[in-house]
Amino acid sequence: MQRYSLYIDGKRCESASGQWFNSDNPFTGAPWAQIARGNESDVDRAVHAAHRAFSSGAWKDLTPSARGLLLCRLADRIAEHASRLAEIEVRDNGKLFAEMHAQLQYLPQWFRYYGGLADKIQGDVIPLDKKGFFNFTRREPLGVVAIITPWNSPLMLLTWKLAPALAAGCTVVIKPSEFTSSSTLEWVELLDEVGFPPGVVNVVTGFGNEAGSALVSHPLVRKITFTGADSTGRRINEQAARDFKHVGLELGGKSPNIVFDDAKLEDAVNGAVSGIFAATGQTCIAGSRLLVQSGVYDEVVERVVALAKTARMGDPMHADTQVGPITTPPQYEKVLNYIDIAQEEGASLALGGKAATREECGAGWFVEPTIFTGVTNDMRIAQEEVFGPVLSVIRFDTEEEAVAIANDVRFGLGAGVWTSDIGRAFRMAERVESGTVWVNTYRAVSYLSPFGGYKDSGLGRENGIDAINEYLQTKSVWINTGAPTGNPFVLR
Ligand code: NAD
Repeated sequence: MQRYSLYIDGKRCESASGQWFNSDNPFTGAPWAQIARGNESDVDRAVHAAHRAFSSGAWKDLTPSARGLLLCRLADRIAEHASRLAEIEVRDNGKLFAEMHAQLQYLPQWFRYYGGLADKIQGDVIPLDKKGFFNFTRREPLGVVAIITPWNSPLMLLTWKLAPALAAGCTVVIKPSEFTSSSTLEWVELLDEVGFPPGVVNVVTGFGNEAGSALVSHPLVRKITFTGADSTGRRINEQAARDFKHVGLELGGKSPNIVFDDAKLEDAVNGAVSGIFAATGQTCIAGSRLLVQSGVYDEVVERVVALAKTARMGDPMHADTQVGPITTPPQYEKVLNYIDIAQEEGASLALGGKAATREECGAGWFVEPTIFTGVTNDMRIAQEEVFGPVLSVIRFDTEEEAVAIANDVRFGLGAGVWTSDIGRAFRMAERVESGTVWVNTYRAVSYLSPFGGYKDSGLGRENGIDAINEYLQTKSVWINTGAPTGNPFVLR
């Protein structure tokens, strides 16, 4: 079995505990790698290494152009290793190789984009209202950043945080999910190859309540950027607030995918199916509530069920597999539990509703693509994030009603609108409370386009130019160029 140790100060090292835990393959249900179990003492070593790299200048004092160049070189190395890294991700999280490979091939763009931005960070000269002073601002990196990632897309969600943090001049300690640490520990080797100074990037693997919590509360950490469950995000936010640390949170969703009578139905049906069943529903932007207008309700339900029924389940490494396993045993139990809850609440089961026992699913943690109709928005299945292949279909009559239902959840991460009326597209884009609204498409993301949550879906934004500001702070510098000395006891 492959063994992965910690990565601190540019070196591989054993954890202080000397303990290891297994990483399981969700398709076979069997362990395939062992991961070092980091604890508070390992976190302390890693944060000090990051702090030394930051404050001794090994990273901060590189010219911004040199920092940017390293990021661009890293992009090239990731592109060369995309296939190998994607395979490791699939072994850990069970997502389709085709999807992970496409993701890995796209990731270099983040490093090139933020590498290009590194030497465009600049302050302002302030046109002051006081004579005899020159006032300007500096944009300075926050310091050591803790990056805590989940299991669903480990390297992509890491990249969204890491590329702007490094471009800004911060140094980092990464704590990947205990379910999917391997790809991060493989990827980190590429940093050595392109010449990142030791300590700029460190990885401590381990459990959330052990390594994760120690990282959040470490006094030298200035910012925590986290993607994961909203309950964990709340705990991290509370813990960080005690020391006034900066926090960025990408949390869950209960995204509405809204189909109007005037939609191009073939596109809407495809969008509804890929919105919830791609990645086996394990994405924060899953379109888990399908809102359908009365005039096309029956037809849309029939076509969505018919298309979902054709899903080929099985080995995520095979090119023709369409739906892979659930990544972790606790998540598998959680999905099946929500299927029971929906039935107890009175939703009608139109498809699936059970663990998949097809031969091609082997011993993996598979759940059949599941569709509930007759769902009302007050049911738990419509309000709570399942994070699995479970779709709730809700009927509506008017545009007004669609907006009300769409917004009647505590989340606001993504939303889809399917219509051929351009006026309605703009109205809906304005009225739906969500960090992203897709019209006649679903689930598109880019390094150029800001991503983040409204309401309980998170704090801050990733991607796009503004994301770099999440890792910078502003200093105002005043220079006396000849202002008269006034009364020393009166503030000027
Ligand atoms: P999780 O919150 O359990 O774990 C995420 C990470 O936080 C892991 O690395 C974990 O070890 C760590 N962690 C757990 N407890 C911690 C603590 N007390 N202190 C510090 N770190 C701690 O989430 P998960 O189960 O890995 O991922 C699934 C959840 O993530 C879903 O609910 C989904 O909605 C959410 N998610 C959101 C997005 C987004 O972009 N908004 C993306 C992916 C997943």
